[in-house]
Amino acid sequence: MMDFSATRALFDLPDGICYLDGNSLGPQPRAAASAAARALGEWQGQLIGGWNGAGWMDLPVALGAAIAPLIGAAPDTVVVGETLSIRVHQALMAALDLRPERTEIVTDSGNFPSDIYIAAEIARRRGLTLRVVAPDAVETALGPQTAVLMLTEVDYRTARRHDMARLSARAHEVGALALWDLAHSAGAVPLDLAGAGADFAVGCTYKYLNGGPGSPAFLHAAPGLIEAVTPALPGWLGHAAPFGFDMDYAPAPGVARMRIGTPPVLQMAALQGALTVWKGLSMTEVFATAQGLAQRLIDGVAARAPALRLASPEDPARRGSHLAFAHPEAQAIMRAFIARGLVGDFRAPDIVRLALTPLYIGPADIDRALDIIAEVMTSRAWEDPAFAASAGPVT
Ligand SMILES: *Cc1c(COP(=O)(O)O)cnc(C)c1O
Repeated sequence: MMDFSATRALFDLPDGICYLDGNSLGPQPRAAASAAARALGEWQGQLIGGWNGAGWMDLPVALGAAIAPLIGAAPDTVVVGETLSIRVHQALMAALDLRPERTEIVTDSGNFPSDIYIAAEIARRRGLTLRVVAPDAVETALGPQTAVLMLTEVDYRTARRHDMARLSARAHEVGALALWDLAHSAGAVPLDLAGAGADFAVGCTYKYLNGGPGSPAFLHAAPGLIEAVTPALPGWLGHAAPFGFDMDYAPAPGVARMRIGTPPVLQMAALQGALTVWKGLSMTEVFATAQGLAQRLIDGVAARAPALRLASPEDPARRGSHLAFAHPEAQAIMRAFIARGLVGDFRAPDIVRLALTPLYIGPADIDRALDIIAEVMTSRAWEDPAFAASAGPVT
């Protein structure tokens, strides 16, 4: 098992908080704070010289190489920068360009709104059809008309996890490409993008990777595919020779062509620090430890707060590292939890979401969370008008 006390000491968590929301915004690694402070110092001292002198210009590629082993990808197939929504757009456009004769994008109703909005708008502009099917109907929706299968591996609400290898293989059988969103996977579940046959993958770094609010996203493209991609957003920093200032675009070799513009150096520095906490950890072990915590939470809720119904798959192999519990008063319940120091979040219409992040959450935290959950549910503390829907947004 992991040495939880060693990894927990790498985080600066506020006192008195039981933080089960690391799937939405990871807490602050101490190394993120020191790396961000160092970058501020480089800016102060080196001024514009920092772009080369401090390595700022290479951060998108250096960070891609640091994330690659966490997602089972080769180091030179990942680039970092932009927001996840932009990465979804870039990857989907690239995949569609590689299947110009096909007419459909297939996704599922468990996907995140941003991904679906972007796919719908691209489909509308190109005269394509976006098919949004139920998660268990994805396989049968694929056919000779499918250009791209675009899925989020772990459902942001229920944590239901798709079988990436099987669905990618099915997409390939019909001649389509597979694009995976790893927003709730990276840093949570063991991934083998190369082995699973993902053509493109994207994900964010502020959730399980603890890069900080607004930390930039990543994009992976399978080797062999990227050389055929003409980026739909051909920015100067994705050019083969950015400082040639040529009027004509020529893509940089490899995945670096998916860079667009000036990288957010301070955010990237924080992320670079945050990624050091994963050194020497096995994702298989992180995931197994998370599932042990999840079972402890599931059993405790079933015994002490049965009105909260598990809305995640019971089989740990079929879910990511958070749990969803359904209750009609989920929003007020989450407010009552937060007022007692248990931080999770609410997802409409009826989901209480709690994340298991073993780098900084251990069995004692789960037991404390269970005490709060049992107390709130038994006392019906959530009926207090202070926790009503009119009180404004929850986390
Ligand atoms: C969190 C999340 C996003 C958020 O995208 P941003 O551009 O970073 O705001 C997009 N897609 C999925 C699947 C997510 O879980």
